[in-house]
Amino acid sequence: MTPEQRHNCMAHNKAKDTTPEVRLRHALWREGFRYRANVKRLPGTPDIVLPKYHTVIFVHGCFWHGHKDCKKYTVPKTNTEFWQAKVARNHERDQEVWRKLEGLGWAVIIVWECELEKAHLAETVQRVSEEIRRNGDIFRQNQAERRRAREEYREEQRARQAREKAHLVELKH
Ligand SMILES: [Zn+2]
Repeated sequence: MTPEQRHNCMAHNKAKDTTPEVRLRHALWREGFRYRANVKRLPGTPDIVLPKYHTVIFVHGCFWHGHKDCKKYTVPKTNTEFWQAKVARNHERDQEVWRKLEGLGWAVIIVWECELEKAHLAETVQRVSEEIRRNGDIFRQNQAERRRAREEYREEQRARQAREKAHLVELKH
């Protein structure tokens, strides 16, 4: 199956269409982005991976990841400390994963579940799309800079070799 066929196949499965993560995926697809989902070989198994833009996306549940000032994240009145500790651990793990991914050259975008509710979906998709494109631009710029630096180095090498050769010629005379 081509990615297009697979996508159409999945789009027909309406039951799977309801999770916030899938809503975001389909919206990004419509924006023209191509991605891989649930990539296990990357730290934290990112929900959406866009290799061309060197970007990974996590869709975070507001409760489990402790979305600050969000109505979906209220600490339960019983076992409060237990829940707070659990959310704090998730938070730490998220930061660790973030650091690892950035170390590997990936830009990380976090999207909160509440940002993917129908009322906010359009503006969230717009924000995320802009961020993805910007990440792609930055990566290409860096690539161009790396290429320039390599060329400068080679140029220096050539100049040095030419100087050494000239020196040897002088010594022979
Ligand atoms: Zn939230």
